[in-house]
Amino acid sequence: MTERIYYGDPACLEFDAAVLDCTADGGRTIVVLDRTAFYPTSGGQPHDIGWLGGVPVSNVIELDDDRIGHVVDSPIPAGSAVRGRIDRARRFDHMQQHTGQHILSAAFDRLHGARTVGFHLGALVSTIDLDKVLGAEPLADAEAEANRVVWEDRPLRILTASGEEGALLGLRKEAVRSGPLRVIEVERFDRSACGGTHVARTGEVGVIVLRSWEKFRGGMRVEFVCGARALREFRALRDAVAGSLRFLSVPPQELPSAIEGAQAENKELRRAIRGLTERLAAHEAAALVGRARPAGPIRLVVESLDDWDQTGLTALASAAAAQPGVVAALLSAGPDPAVAAIACAPDTGVNAAVVLRRLAERFGGKGGGKPGLAQGGGLTGERAAMLAALEEIIAASLPPAP
Ligand SMILES: [Zn+2]
Repeated sequence: MTERIYYGDPACLEFDAAVLDCTADGGRTIVVLDRTAFYPTSGGQPHDIGWLGGVPVSNVIELDDDRIGHVVDSPIPAGSAVRGRIDRARRFDHMQQHTGQHILSAAFDRLHGARTVGFHLGALVSTIDLDKVLGAEPLADAEAEANRVVWEDRPLRILTASGEEGALLGLRKEAVRSGPLRVIEVERFDRSACGGTHVARTGEVGVIVLRSWEKFRGGMRVEFVCGARALREFRALRDAVAGSLRFLSVPPQELPSAIEGAQAENKELRRAIRGLTERLAAHEAAALVGRARPAGPIRLVVESLDDWDQTGLTALASAAAAQPGVVAALLSAGPDPAVAAIACAPDTGVNAAVVLRRLAERFGGKGGGKPGLAQGGGLTGERAAMLAALEEIIAASLPPAP
């Protein structure tokens, strides 16, 4: 059995201990001490890291029989004395988040009767799962109440009680383990059975911020950050907002409506461009048809064109093939990959979708359509080769002369 120093003295970050056991376990070396201040992963709180002597401790686990295993980089002989040191920054972060969770869970419970049914302390954010759904306003009320308790800088106490005594303490959260209870009390606010590590006064939590929330398993999952994480998050948001404001020239609180306005304007412009493109295409199509070459019974337009996107090429090909006897196969002239639009007047008997499919077989890309109109993209290769291929494919797909 390992004596857990953190049960009684969570502030202890350096300690002396004796090595009871050092074993290899599937490629890992695990050291068991007679006493430790290292916290093992449990109760939603991740493990500490640190050093035993000069040897790094990368993981700490609960072993089967109430012993704590320290996963280390190299063996330490049983019987030796070691000085353990815990990475303070990581531990303090965990204490801030975990204590914040107690306070926040108690606030949800006291204000709204919403009980915490799950807790996870993640690498970046932590979550509380509540057994009922709360709206934005009740959530904000609980957040405010939790911060009030933080700023009142109330002491936290560790109480030990038997199971029967525990029943009289009015615990918000019952014990998971059997035997004597370890109860964490936030003065005049909350008592919960918990084996984790917590700060000594609520003020050390700094601030508790709800980050996001969503419905989850009949209740809801609330993401939150405390203390230094909240500061980090604020800085990231500040930079993101400042970056957006440079483009929009509005005060931060007007950002959502400015983005909404910009999107609406963008949509309007796209609609206008589409209309203009169609009108321009009808005009340009006449010139294209004027350049058409007779090929057997049809008039053929096979060209690559600058400055037309997929929508424009399609409009152009459609407008050209509105003339009887015309097959128009158009490619974008710009850099790879090319887009293509193929349109065939019904009396030509040429199937645009088949022509496009054969072209894609040679130059890659994809697309589809109907006999009268097909469009595709992702074609790669020399435009001259694509144009020659189109001529060949269309010539081969002409119906036999009567
Ligand atoms: Zn706790």
